[in-house]
Amino acid sequence: MVFRRYDDAFIFVRMAVNSKRGSIISGKRSLWIVILGVVMATAVAACTTLAASQAQESTMFNVLVFSKTAGYRHSAIDTGIATIQALGNQHGFSVDATEDAARFTDSGLAPYAVIIFLNTSGDVLDAAQQGAMERFIQNGNGFVGVHSASDTEYGWAWYGQLVGTYFADHPAIQTAKLNVADGTHLATLGLPSPWTRTDEWYNFTSNPSGNVNVLLTIDETSYSGGTMGKPHPLAWYHEFDNGRSFYTALGHTEASYSEPLFQKHLLGGILYAAGVDLTNHTFLPTIQSD
Ligand SMILES: [Zn+2]
Repeated sequence: MVFRRYDDAFIFVRMAVNSKRGSIISGKRSLWIVILGVVMATAVAACTTLAASQAQESTMFNVLVFSKTAGYRHSAIDTGIATIQALGNQHGFSVDATEDAARFTDSGLAPYAVIIFLNTSGDVLDAAQQGAMERFIQNGNGFVGVHSASDTEYGWAWYGQLVGTYFADHPAIQTAKLNVADGTHLATLGLPSPWTRTDEWYNFTSNPSGNVNVLLTIDETSYSGGTMGKPHPLAWYHEFDNGRSFYTALGHTEASYSEPLFQKHLLGGILYAAGVDLTNHTFLPTIQSD
Protein backbone atom coordinates (compact mmCIF):
# COMPACT_ATOMS: atom_id res chain seq x y z
CA MET A 1 0.00 0.00 0.00
CA VAL A 2 1.35 3.38 -0.98
CA PHE A 3 0.23 6.49 0.80
CA ARG A 4 0.21 9.62 -1.24
CA ARG A 5 -2.72 11.59 -0.02
CA TYR A 6 -1.51 12.68 3.36
CA ASP A 7 -2.10 16.20 2.17
CA ASP A 8 -5.85 15.59 2.06
CA ALA A 9 -6.03 13.38 5.06
CA PHE A 10 -6.13 13.63 8.77
CA ILE A 11 -4.11 11.07 10.62
CA PHE A 12 -5.07 9.89 14.00
CA VAL A 13 -2.49 7.70 15.56
CA ARG A 14 -2.92 5.57 18.59
CA MET A 15 -0.30 3.45 20.23
CA ALA A 16 -1.15 0.58 22.48
CA VAL A 17 1.72 0.04 24.80
CA ASN A 18 2.70 -3.08 26.65
CA SER A 19 4.48 -1.61 29.58
CA LYS A 20 5.06 -2.84 33.06
CA ARG A 21 5.25 0.74 34.21
CA GLY A 22 2.13 2.11 32.64
CA SER A 23 1.43 4.03 29.50
CA ILE A 24 4.92 5.28 28.82
CA ILE A 25 6.78 4.18 25.74
CA SER A 26 10.44 3.65 26.36
CA GLY A 27 13.28 1.30 25.73
CA LYS A 28 12.82 -2.12 24.22
CA ARG A 29 9.40 -2.70 25.71
CA SER A 30 6.96 -4.02 23.23
CA LEU A 31 4.74 -1.53 21.57
CA TRP A 32 2.11 -1.69 18.98
CA ILE A 33 1.55 1.32 16.90
CA VAL A 34 -1.86 1.62 15.46
CA ILE A 35 -3.01 4.26 13.09
CA LEU A 36 -6.73 4.26 13.62
CA GLY A 37 -8.08 6.79 11.31
CA VAL A 38 -7.33 8.76 8.22
CA VAL A 39 -10.19 10.33 6.40
CA MET A 40 -10.23 12.27 3.21
CA ALA A 41 -10.81 15.98 3.07
CA THR A 42 -14.58 15.69 3.00
CA ALA A 43 -14.59 14.24 6.49
CA VAL A 44 -11.75 16.23 7.99
CA ALA A 45 -13.91 18.47 10.13
CA ALA A 46 -15.81 15.67 11.84
CA CYS A 47 -12.70 13.55 12.31
CA THR A 48 -10.73 16.43 13.74
CA THR A 49 -13.32 16.83 16.45
CA LEU A 50 -13.27 13.11 17.17
CA ALA A 51 -9.49 12.90 17.20
CA ALA A 52 -9.15 15.91 19.45
CA SER A 53 -11.53 14.45 22.01
CA GLN A 54 -9.78 11.09 21.92
CA ALA A 55 -6.36 12.67 22.13
CA GLN A 56 -7.39 14.33 25.35
CA GLU A 57 -8.33 10.96 26.79
CA SER A 58 -4.97 9.32 26.26
CA THR A 59 -1.45 10.34 25.46
CA MET A 60 0.33 8.01 23.11
CA PHE A 61 3.86 9.05 23.92
CA ASN A 62 5.83 11.85 25.50
CA VAL A 63 8.22 14.22 23.74
CA LEU A 64 10.97 16.31 25.29
CA VAL A 65 11.84 19.48 23.39
CA PHE A 66 15.35 20.71 24.20
CA SER A 67 16.33 24.18 22.99
CA LYS A 68 19.41 25.09 25.00
CA THR A 69 21.81 27.33 23.10
CA ALA A 70 25.50 27.84 23.79
CA GLY A 71 26.10 29.58 20.45
CA TYR A 72 23.71 31.36 18.09
CA ARG A 73 20.18 31.68 19.45
CA HIS A 74 17.34 31.55 16.95
CA SER A 75 14.39 33.84 17.50
CA ALA A 76 12.13 31.05 16.26
CA ILE A 77 12.65 28.86 19.34
CA ASP A 78 9.56 30.03 21.21
CA THR A 79 7.41 29.72 18.10
CA GLY A 80 8.83 26.27 17.49
CA ILE A 81 8.00 25.07 21.00
CA ALA A 82 4.45 26.40 20.74
CA THR A 83 4.02 24.72 17.36
CA ILE A 84 5.22 21.33 18.60
CA GLN A 85 2.96 21.63 21.64
CA ALA A 86 0.02 22.36 19.35
CA LEU A 87 0.89 19.37 17.17
CA GLY A 88 0.99 17.24 20.30
CA ASN A 89 -2.42 18.47 21.39
CA GLN A 90 -3.85 17.72 17.97
CA HIS A 91 -2.24 14.33 17.48
CA GLY A 92 -2.15 12.79 20.91
CA PHE A 93 1.36 13.16 22.28
CA SER A 94 2.49 15.23 25.22
CA VAL A 95 5.27 17.80 24.96
CA ASP A 96 7.60 19.03 27.67
CA ALA A 97 10.04 21.82 26.79
CA THR A 98 13.23 22.55 28.66
CA GLU A 99 16.62 24.21 28.36
CA ASP A 100 17.87 22.48 31.49
CA ALA A 101 20.59 20.01 30.55
CA ALA A 102 20.30 18.46 34.02
CA ARG A 103 17.19 16.70 32.71
CA PHE A 104 19.53 14.43 30.76
CA THR A 105 19.81 11.53 33.19
CA ASP A 106 18.51 7.98 32.74
CA SER A 107 15.56 8.65 35.03
CA GLY A 108 15.00 12.14 33.65
CA LEU A 109 14.70 10.85 30.08
CA ALA A 110 12.79 7.67 30.95
CA PRO A 111 9.32 9.18 30.43
CA TYR A 112 10.04 10.12 26.83
CA ALA A 113 9.92 8.33 23.51
CA VAL A 114 11.40 11.22 21.51
CA ILE A 115 13.90 13.99 22.21
CA ILE A 116 13.75 16.99 19.89
CA PHE A 117 16.78 19.25 19.60
CA LEU A 118 15.00 22.41 18.48
CA ASN A 119 17.45 25.01 17.20
CA THR A 120 20.04 24.11 19.79
CA SER A 121 23.59 25.41 19.32
CA GLY A 122 27.07 24.84 20.64
CA ASP A 123 28.12 22.60 23.51
CA VAL A 124 24.93 21.98 25.46
CA LEU A 125 25.49 18.69 27.32
CA ASP A 126 28.34 17.57 29.56
CA ALA A 127 29.85 14.10 29.36
CA ALA A 128 27.45 12.48 31.83
CA GLN A 129 24.44 14.06 30.11
CA GLN A 130 25.74 12.84 26.77
CA GLY A 131 25.97 9.34 28.19
CA ALA A 132 22.33 9.45 29.26
CA MET A 133 21.27 10.54 25.81
CA GLU A 134 23.30 7.79 24.15
CA ARG A 135 21.62 5.18 26.37
CA PHE A 136 18.24 6.74 25.58
CA ILE A 137 18.78 6.08 21.87
CA GLN A 138 20.37 2.70 22.48
CA ASN A 139 17.18 1.73 24.32
CA GLY A 140 15.27 2.08 21.06
CA ASN A 141 13.98 5.62 21.35
CA GLY A 142 13.89 8.49 18.86
CA PHE A 143 15.64 11.77 18.05
CA VAL A 144 14.47 14.74 16.01
CA GLY A 145 16.90 17.48 15.07
CA VAL A 146 15.57 20.79 13.76
CA HIS A 147 17.72 23.28 11.82
CA SER A 148 20.65 24.27 14.07
CA ALA A 149 20.55 20.92 15.85
CA SER A 150 23.36 20.33 13.35
CA ASP A 151 25.15 23.43 14.71
CA THR A 152 25.44 21.68 18.06
CA GLU A 153 27.95 19.49 19.89
CA TYR A 154 30.78 19.49 17.33
CA GLY A 155 33.03 17.70 19.80
CA TRP A 156 30.68 14.79 20.45
CA ALA A 157 31.27 12.36 17.60
CA TRP A 158 28.31 10.12 18.50
CA TYR A 159 25.98 13.09 18.21
CA GLY A 160 27.38 13.99 14.80
CA GLN A 161 26.62 10.46 13.65
CA LEU A 162 23.14 10.60 15.19
CA VAL A 163 22.32 13.81 13.31
CA GLY A 164 24.19 12.75 10.17
CA THR A 165 26.59 15.66 9.70
CA TYR A 166 27.31 19.17 10.97
CA PHE A 167 26.34 22.64 9.83
CA ALA A 168 29.04 24.49 7.87
CA ASP A 169 27.59 27.81 6.68
CA HIS A 170 24.62 29.39 4.97
CA PRO A 171 23.81 32.16 2.52
CA ALA A 172 21.18 34.84 3.19
CA ILE A 173 17.59 33.80 3.70
CA GLN A 174 15.95 33.36 0.30
CA THR A 175 13.35 31.44 -1.64
CA ALA A 176 14.43 28.13 -3.18
CA LYS A 177 13.05 24.88 -4.57
CA LEU A 178 13.19 21.67 -2.57
CA ASN A 179 12.71 18.27 -4.18
CA VAL A 180 11.19 15.28 -2.44
CA ALA A 181 13.64 12.39 -2.67
CA ASP A 182 11.38 9.90 -0.88
CA GLY A 183 7.68 10.71 -0.76
CA THR A 184 6.65 7.58 1.14
CA HIS A 185 8.02 8.67 4.51
CA LEU A 186 5.79 10.24 7.13
CA ALA A 187 7.85 13.44 6.97
CA THR A 188 7.33 13.89 3.22
CA LEU A 189 3.90 12.40 2.54
CA GLY A 190 1.86 14.88 0.53
CA LEU A 191 4.61 17.44 0.10
CA PRO A 192 4.78 19.01 -3.35
CA SER A 193 7.90 18.46 -5.43
CA PRO A 194 9.32 20.90 -6.11
CA TRP A 195 8.40 22.54 -2.83
CA THR A 196 9.10 26.25 -3.10
CA ARG A 197 9.58 28.07 0.18
CA THR A 198 11.74 30.60 1.98
CA ASP A 199 14.22 29.69 4.69
CA GLU A 200 17.89 29.74 5.61
CA TRP A 201 19.52 26.99 3.56
CA TYR A 202 22.36 25.13 5.23
CA ASN A 203 25.56 23.79 3.75
CA PHE A 204 27.15 20.99 5.77
CA THR A 205 30.68 19.94 6.65
CA SER A 206 30.13 16.65 4.81
CA ASN A 207 27.46 15.21 2.56
CA PRO A 208 25.46 12.72 4.65
CA SER A 209 23.67 11.16 1.68
CA GLY A 210 25.71 7.96 1.79
CA ASN A 211 24.93 7.31 5.44
CA VAL A 212 21.29 8.33 5.79
CA ASN A 213 18.00 8.04 3.92
CA VAL A 214 17.53 11.37 2.17
CA LEU A 215 14.02 12.82 2.22
CA LEU A 216 14.46 16.32 0.82
CA THR A 217 17.11 17.85 -1.40
CA ILE A 218 17.49 21.45 -2.48
CA ASP A 219 17.98 22.57 -6.08
CA GLU A 220 21.15 24.64 -5.91
CA THR A 221 20.26 26.27 -9.23
CA SER A 222 17.17 27.78 -7.62
CA TYR A 223 19.06 30.01 -5.19
CA SER A 224 22.54 31.38 -4.57
CA GLY A 225 25.06 30.10 -2.08
CA GLY A 226 24.57 26.33 -2.16
CA THR A 227 27.92 24.51 -2.07
CA MET A 228 27.05 20.85 -1.57
CA GLY A 229 26.53 19.95 -5.23
CA LYS A 230 24.17 17.18 -6.18
CA PRO A 231 22.53 15.89 -4.13
CA HIS A 232 22.25 18.60 -1.54
CA PRO A 233 20.22 16.93 1.23
CA LEU A 234 18.23 19.04 3.67
CA ALA A 235 16.16 16.42 5.50
CA TRP A 236 16.79 12.76 6.18
CA TYR A 237 16.29 9.87 8.56
CA HIS A 238 18.18 6.80 9.63
CA GLU A 239 18.26 4.09 12.22
CA PHE A 240 21.23 4.64 14.42
CA ASP A 241 22.58 2.78 17.46
CA ASN A 242 19.27 0.94 17.95
CA GLY A 243 17.21 4.13 17.76
CA ARG A 244 15.65 6.33 15.09
CA SER A 245 16.91 9.74 13.99
CA PHE A 246 15.19 12.35 11.84
CA TYR A 247 16.82 15.62 10.89
CA THR A 248 15.49 18.61 8.99
CA ALA A 249 17.59 21.65 8.18
CA LEU A 250 14.40 23.66 7.68
CA GLY A 251 13.05 25.87 10.42
CA HIS A 252 15.22 28.98 10.76
CA THR A 253 12.45 31.49 10.28
CA GLU A 254 9.57 32.05 12.66
CA ALA A 255 7.26 32.01 9.64
CA SER A 256 8.25 28.41 8.92
CA TYR A 257 6.32 27.18 11.93
CA SER A 258 3.10 28.70 10.61
CA GLU A 259 3.38 26.86 7.29
CA PRO A 260 0.97 23.89 7.18
CA LEU A 261 3.37 21.91 5.00
CA PHE A 262 6.31 22.51 7.31
CA GLN A 263 4.12 21.50 10.25
CA LYS A 264 3.29 18.23 8.48
CA HIS A 265 6.96 17.67 7.71
CA LEU A 266 7.86 18.21 11.36
CA LEU A 267 4.95 16.12 12.65
CA GLY A 268 5.91 13.27 10.35
CA GLY A 269 9.46 13.37 11.64
CA ILE A 270 8.24 13.23 15.21
CA LEU A 271 5.91 10.29 14.51
CA TYR A 272 8.71 8.43 12.73
CA ALA A 273 11.06 9.04 15.65
CA ALA A 274 8.38 7.72 18.00
CA GLY A 275 8.26 4.47 16.07
CA VAL A 276 5.43 4.88 13.58
CA ASP A 277 6.62 3.05 10.49
CA LEU A 278 4.44 3.02 7.42
CA THR A 279 6.90 1.20 5.20
CA ASN A 280 7.13 -1.79 7.49
CA HIS A 281 3.43 -1.73 8.28
CA THR A 282 3.89 -1.80 12.03
CA PHE A 283 0.40 -0.43 12.36
CA LEU A 284 -3.12 -1.28 11.37
CA PRO A 285 -3.46 0.36 7.98
CA THR A 286 -6.72 2.17 7.55
CA ILE A 287 -5.25 4.88 5.36
CA GLN A 288 -6.79 5.09 1.93
CA SER A 289 -4.32 5.96 -0.75
CA ASP A 290 -6.74 7.26 -3.35
ZN1 LIG B 1 19.36 29.53 11.28
